[in-house]
Amino acid sequence: MTPDDAALVRWVAGHDEPCPVCSYNLQDAPDAVCPECGVLLRLSVTSPATALGPLILGIVSFSVAIGFDAVTLALVGGSVVLFGPPPGIVPQMTVFFLTLGLLALLSALGLGALVRSRKRWYRQARRRQWEVAWLIFLIVGGIHAIAGVTLISILA
Ligand SMILES: [Zn+2]
Repeated sequence: MTPDDAALVRWVAGHDEPCPVCSYNLQDAPDAVCPECGVLLRLSVTSPATALGPLILGIVSFSVAIGFDAVTLALVGGSVVLFGPPPGIVPQMTVFFLTLGLLALLSALGLGALVRSRKRWYRQARRRQWEVAWLIFLIVGGIHAIAGVTLISILA
C-alpha cells in the first residue's frame, strides 16, 4: 500500500464517502479500491470553483456555433462548387460566405480564449462563472440569430 493509498484508507475510516463511480459507501474500506465495483481510488484536493458546468456551457456555446457555421459553409459551398452560384445573387452569396466565415473565426477565437484563460475563470466566484457562461451563450446565439435573419433577408 502506497502512502497515498494509506492516506485514503485513513480518510474513509469513519467517513461516509461515496465511490465516485458506483456511489457505494466507502466508509472503512480497507484499501484504495472500491469494495463494490473494484475501481481504483485516489485521495485528492479539489475546489467547487473547478466544477465544469459553467465552463462547459461556454465551450459548448462556441463549439455549436463553429459547428453550425462550418456545416452551413460546407453545404452551401459544396452546392455552389457542384452546381455553380445561383444566378443574379453572386454579391449576396459573397456576403453570406464572408459573414459565416467571420462568425466561425470569431467563435473559434472565443473558444481559444476561454480555454486558455480557464485558470482565471476558476478564480471567479461560481455565480460569476455562470453569469459569464450564460452571457457567452446569449451573445454567440444572438449574433448568429441576427446574422441568420439578415442573411436570409438578403438572399430571399
Ligand atoms: Zn464503486
